[in-house]
Amino acid sequence: MKRIAPPKGREVSGGGQLSARLRPAWAEVDLGAVSDNVAYLCRAVAPARVCAVVKAFGYGHGSVPVARAALAGGATYLGVALAEEGHELRRAGLSAPVLVLSEPPKAAMGLVVDDHLTPAIYTERGLRSLLAAVRARLAMAREGTPPRGFPVHLKLDSGMHRVGATPEMVLHLAKGISADPTLYLEGVFTHFAVADEPANPFTAHQLAELEALLQCMNRQGPRPPIVHAANSAGALFHPASRYDMVRAGIAVYGLSPAAALREGAAVRPLRPVLSLKARVSFAKEVAAGERLSYGLRYRLGDRSTIATVPLGYADGVPRRLAETGGEVLIAGRRYPIAGTVTMDQILVDCGAGAEVEAGDEVVLLGRQGAEEITAWDWAERLGTIAYEVTCALSARLPRIYI
Ligand SMILES: *Cc1c(COP(=O)(O)O)cnc(C)c1O
Repeated sequence: MKRIAPPKGREVSGGGQLSARLRPAWAEVDLGAVSDNVAYLCRAVAPARVCAVVKAFGYGHGSVPVARAALAGGATYLGVALAEEGHELRRAGLSAPVLVLSEPPKAAMGLVVDDHLTPAIYTERGLRSLLAAVRARLAMAREGTPPRGFPVHLKLDSGMHRVGATPEMVLHLAKGISADPTLYLEGVFTHFAVADEPANPFTAHQLAELEALLQCMNRQGPRPPIVHAANSAGALFHPASRYDMVRAGIAVYGLSPAAALREGAAVRPLRPVLSLKARVSFAKEVAAGERLSYGLRYRLGDRSTIATVPLGYADGVPRRLAETGGEVLIAGRRYPIAGTVTMDQILVDCGAGAEVEAGDEVVLLGRQGAEEITAWDWAERLGTIAYEVTCALSARLPRIYI
């Protein structure tokens, strides 16, 4: 039995006793790659600035360490989906501006104000509950609002129809904000539906909607200092959409916004941040004709070395990955996942006479030797996108930051 070194790096796991030192399975997060990816984006979009989107636990990577590395790489704003995600950044001591990308519900406005998060607003009700929360805090005189007032970004629905206001409503809300010294209209923004299809003319249509709104706003008063529209795909493939800031998520994590864009020159400088690794927990020879795992659906044609690897669908390895031909890397070689992915373990068919033993490193996502398996490789097998692959890595899986 070989001596097994624990994985290198600083471990921050989901809490309790979850540890890669106890169960050898972990997500390795390369924070240097985060900083490099953000620095590349900053250069590519300058003079626009970069808002690093760290919602959903930093797309599965860990929001706080990713946020720190993104700021070190040159990001000046952070983006989250929920006020409570912003709260987590504040609790960790991060003081950079944080944009909550959708309008917080009334119940969350107190948290928004207490934590000095910047809310997206697109309804009168939302603006009223923000104002009420700001005034309540002012009345308690815990601290003053920023000298210009509490910052707000208004969101225009330019055609995706998820969230956002009509141009008329944005103008109406902007008037209300300008008339109230406790608030400050810092930004106006919109969000693209198909920026990851660079040839699709709908992005230009959405930009024209935003432009028309900006024209009207110019007549109403000074233009807010931060106009923004681009997600990663917009930032990389639609230069006209960069305005004052881009909101980059997937590119921060070193992944292309779309499978079809992976090989492009704009995406090539990005480096994947996350590797999914484990060590073989058990290896044995199994006879020809035997069948493996739940359902006994994988049959060995020849005698083979079967490696057991201690992670499964409860960690975010999709059950469908095996049925769709998923592979892992061991000793720099590709081997198929053999039989059904179980909750806590997978089996790997290493072939006849393979010198695979307990303790060997297994790479499910990432590089080993000359081989690489990416989140987009999984996504293409599974009929989904790389975003869903990394977001699905569960809290049980320890994260190791290098
Ligand atoms: C998630 C999100 C982003 C980031 O999108 P990517 O494609 O990951 O760059 C930007 N803006 C909004 C409004 C979002 O919800």
